[in-house]
Formats: sequence, structure tokens, C-alpha cells
Amino acid sequence: MSKRLIFLGPPGAGKGTQAERLATVAAIPHISTGEIIRGAIAQQTPLGQKAKSYVDAGDLVPDSLILDLIRERLQQPDTASGWILDGFPRNVSQAEFLDRLLRELNQDGVCVISLNVPEEVLVSRLLGRQRQDDNETTIRHRLDVYHQETRPVIEFYRDRGLHIVDGDRSPDAVGATLQELVNA
Ligand code: ADP
Repeated sequence: MSKRLIFLGPPGAGKGTQAERLATVAAIPHISTGEIIRGAIAQQTPLGQKAKSYVDAGDLVPDSLILDLIRERLQQPDTASGWILDGFPRNVSQAEFLDRLLRELNQDGVCVISLNVPEEVLVSRLLGRQRQDDNETTIRHRLDVYHQETRPVIEFYRDRGLHIVDGDRSPDAVGATLQELVNA
């Protein structure tokens, strides 16, 4: 199985947790656009300053802020044996961009994992998390944005390496399924 993994799923699905675990076991980088953006906001970099209002509102940051960042990150030496993308692509235009980029970089073949979790479970997980953008209004909005912008990305990968995994189980159980998939 390719060690180029894309994690899809709504906010609260467990992408970050699972991506982190798998990345450690597989010794490949975990690239979380959400973490990169939160880091930039904390450091008040130009990216952070431009991104802050979008993140606070639960909206997607404009593609123009994300695409170059991904292009640069996927050319770092630590990506040679693979990577896990978490939080990207988040809309179809980002998916199309990634497709072109990977062709250009001769990085063919991705394994796409979509974590499925019922909506009410997501809301209670997110409310328990207490991140700054995890208040109820923003959570509802992020879920709407997910349905409108990100769900179509699952269709984009439908017959191109997509695996749908039940994320409404313990982290260990989900992790074991993912491990089997990657080892297959
Ligand atoms: P979650 O999946 O819980 O919403 P993330 O950490 O993945 O959390 O993302 C947090 C916020 O960062 C998003 O609500 C969005 O504003 C921004 N963001 C992250 N990745 C992207 C992306 N690929 N495109 C646009 N905005 C993004």
C-alpha cells in the first residue's frame, strides 16, 4: 500500500489523532494544515494574520494561502518515503491542485481514508475538546462547511484508492483497522 495517505472526514472524526499515531509507526511526516495554520496564528506570521479571521469564524482559509504551503511542504526531504495529509484537500479545487502537484513531483498513488462518524457524536467530541474554535456556533458552521465543501472530495476519490472506515469506535480499534489497511 502506498505510504502517501490522505485523511478525510468531518471535524471531530479523529483524523489528527489517527494520523499522528500512524505517522509515528510508519516513520513518515504527519502534515496537518490545521496545525500549521494554528502555529502561524500563534506566531503572528503573515499567513497567521491573514488566516485568523477565517479560522475563528469556522470558514475555510482561502486556497491562495494554502496551496503554496502544501507545494513547499511536499518537496521537503522528509517526504521521500511518504506522508500523511490531514486537513488537506478540503475542497475539490484543492484536490485537483494536489493531483496536478503529485503528478509533477512523480508521487503517484495515494491511499485515501475517510473516517465516518455520526453527526451527534462529532458535536459532543468537539464540545469536549475546548480548542478556541470549538464553541457550538463555530462547530455547527464547520460541519456545514464540511458538508458543502469537503464531502465532494470523497466523491472525487471514489474510485481512486478510497477506503471508508468506521470512526465511531475506540481510538485503538480505529487505529488497528488503519494499520491493517496500510500493511495490506
Ligand atoms: P477540524 O478538522 O477540527 O475543523 P483543523 O485543524 O483541520 O480542524 O482545521 C482548523 C481550521 O483551519 C479550519 O476550520 C479552517 O479554517 C482551517 N483550515 C485547515 N486546513 C485547511 C485547508 N486545507 N483549507 C482551508 N482552510 C483550512
